Amino acid sequence: MAEHALNFGRISRKLIDSMPLGLVVFDENLTIKDRNPAAEELLAAGDNLADVLRAGSPHQRPEGWGVFLRSALTVGESQGFGNIAYALDGRDSVLDLTISALGDEESGELIGGILIIEDETVKVSMADELAGAERLAAVGKLAARVAHELNNPLDGILRYIGLAQRVAENNNEERAVHYLQESRKGLLRMVQIVSELLDFSRSTHTAFEEADINKLVEDAIKAMSVGAERAGVRIQREFGEKMPNVRTGNLFQVFCNLIKNAVDAMEEQGRGGVLTVRTYYDERNALIEFADTGPGLSEEVMEKIFEAFFTTKAKGKGTGLGLAICLDIMERCGGKIKAQNHDEGGALFTVSIPLERTSWARV
Ligand code: ADP
Repeated sequence: MAEHALNFGRISRKLIDSMPLGLVVFDENLTIKDRNPAAEELLAAGDNLADVLRAGSPHQRPEGWGVFLRSALTVGESQGFGNIAYALDGRDSVLDLTISALGDEESGELIGGILIIEDETVKVSMADELAGAERLAAVGKLAARVAHELNNPLDGILRYIGLAQRVAENNNEERAVHYLQESRKGLLRMVQIVSELLDFSRSTHTAFEEADINKLVEDAIKAMSVGAERAGVRIQREFGEKMPNVRTGNLFQVFCNLIKNAVDAMEEQGRGGVLTVRTYYDERNALIEFADTGPGLSEEVMEKIFEAFFTTKAKGKGTGLGLAICLDIMERCGGKIKAQNHDEGGALFTVSIPLERTSWARV
């Protein structure tokens, strides 16, 4: 075969005609001189390029397509314009246009230009679909999270209201008032959680009142005590004598989650157990430990424990978001959360808060 038969000159027409890109050659008056089949498919029929573009996209260039094309030619270099909405015979497409000036080979004088058209319709609609799916996933995740976080206080409120009703029926007003007060506390907690979730979704921080760490842990134990009692779990406190104050109300959620997980793990074992909650501090951190006498953490669980949606609990019982949220909260307040197995068996969760993020009560 002769060598000169195999060059672009010989095959260029074939190549241009089989390309998915639309190509249009036009002169300096914007009269179309040639176009390939892809361009014929993508653009309306016509002799003048400005008219052809206006036919499918009348409002895209406010200055008018004629002025726009001519100014693009005078710039000299290739000019690209993305996301042009173009409607043809009831079909909407999104086009990327690139315009290059063509000069006379000898004089270099401008004699016209070439328009390259890329059909981005499929890519754009796929990107839209993906963005929609991601939004949906995020909304679903938040909804599951809200349900999980509100479930704990709701559980307590329901029980207290039931108890209040029972004692009211027996005319024991004092007890009824006490149970209603506990219910109110639970509702206030829910309001706080909802506002925190709203804050979280807006990625802003809310300053909460300062609270003594021991008091916060005690509140969490109280909130979870009904479930613990039912599961036959005894909660043992080993509180440090004087603990610093912390500013974040979110920590309460972390403590509740850790207590609930420990209770669930021991309940599954079916013979109750002991949860030891210890608070202390060293030179750098305030530390809160939750040590249970449950089955502990297997290697597989340990690997995934902080992943969102990882759960070994039955459907309807676990969302797998608890520890993912705890980790997030701890990272946001500059602290840490660690999961390990206790020497004596059972799981040990340690929460640490840098002392610079705490303050000491004035009294
Ligand atoms: P959920 O409680 O909804 O399952 P979490 O993120 O709070 O979600 O916990 C994830 C998993 O970690 C649990 O399903 C459980 O397998 C394991 N886990 C958490 N805490 C303990 C614990 N104290 N003892 C044993 N396993 C635990």
